[in-house]
Amino acid sequence: MSHTPNTLQRRQTLPVTVGSVTIGGGAPIVVQSMTNTDTADIAATVHQVAELARAGSEMVRLTVNHESAAKAVPAIREALDAQGCHVPLVGDFHFNGHRLLTDYPECALALAKYRINPGNVGKGEKKDSQFATMIELACRYDRPVRIGVNWGSLDQEVVARMMDENARSSQPKDSEQIMYEAMVESAISSAERAEQLGLSRDHIILSCKMSGVQDLIQVYRMLAARGNYALHLGLTEAGMGSKGIVASTAALSVLLQEGIGDTIRVSLTPEPGESRTREVVVAQEILQSMGFRSFAPMVTACPGCGRTTSDTFQHLAKDIQTYLREQMPVWRGQYPGIETMQVAVMGCVVNGPGESKHANIGISLPGSGERPAAPVYVDGEKVATLKGEGIAEQFKRMVDEYIETRYGRGTGA
Ligand code: SF4
Repeated sequence: MSHTPNTLQRRQTLPVTVGSVTIGGGAPIVVQSMTNTDTADIAATVHQVAELARAGSEMVRLTVNHESAAKAVPAIREALDAQGCHVPLVGDFHFNGHRLLTDYPECALALAKYRINPGNVGKGEKKDSQFATMIELACRYDRPVRIGVNWGSLDQEVVARMMDENARSSQPKDSEQIMYEAMVESAISSAERAEQLGLSRDHIILSCKMSGVQDLIQVYRMLAARGNYALHLGLTEAGMGSKGIVASTAALSVLLQEGIGDTIRVSLTPEPGESRTREVVVAQEILQSMGFRSFAPMVTACPGCGRTTSDTFQHLAKDIQTYLREQMPVWRGQYPGIETMQVAVMGCVVNGPGESKHANIGISLPGSGERPAAPVYVDGEKVATLKGEGIAEQFKRMVDEYIETRYGRGTGA
């Protein structure tokens, strides 16, 4: 059955504490996301962080790219706390992070984690000192750091050195392999430097993001073999719509199934007007489909075919899925265990009864040539046959009753 928990052995990593969240060390794989508002726009950023947290993002990253953004961070934290949203905030720093963290200690304290991109810290001697400043501040404020290498901003000094060494080798490797090794080397050497500077390994998370599926898989396998650092997993610049979702799912699924990855982010480009929360829902659905975690009840629906008599079942499947997900922020506390519930909405008698019996509650709508009646199954047993115009409404009421009876407090269920 699709909701069987995935019990495969996860890779052993050190647990890293990020505010109220633990990443690695066998903790559940954490879902995170990133805002796309101007961080200096406090109201817009607070609104989006709260929206992402409501959707289930367990950490939210925001860019801290200039002074006005650094000044805004404490106010954002305060406003979120005031509305009861305590989701840890992660600061994304490039180029001037050493200065912003030094000049704005309240910003440094309001953030639960700092993301440092070793390719964007500075050049030459400045790189070492600016990186050191950020690590020393992380030590001072007892904050973990993600050393986040990105394919698009890979440290060119590391690449040049490794390419030179390869050219001098008696058995040179192809340039693609050297790029993979350069990604991993940049992450590992930066982590080792951070440790030399006093940051303990249980305060370090690594990532090596790439935009190609096979590239990402190769690099993370290499990274995972290089120590017990907790790993942040994500396909960078995954893209828009189904392309972004499919590419992210393909890459992350392979690695997660190999036990690699302690926290994930799905980097989708939203369609114009689309909510930023889509990336959270996709990340959750990847983890839930693979049986790693449960976040919200899932609806099993058939694709429909020539036996489908109307689009009733499509509307019903969509309505039920949307309804169940929208209610989750309230239901999470009210109905313990509801996130594992499985609902089936099927188009005809061919697979309808069978699939419905496997679900907690399922309906098989009448297909062409069938009697206009829809059997409903609860915990594998047929409990009713719905008829007439209001089948969809009647089924929704039965779902509500099932939830109350099965997951409501005081039911003993
Ligand atoms: S369950 Fe029936 S309607 Fe749905 S795809 Fe299968 S045969 Fe078609």
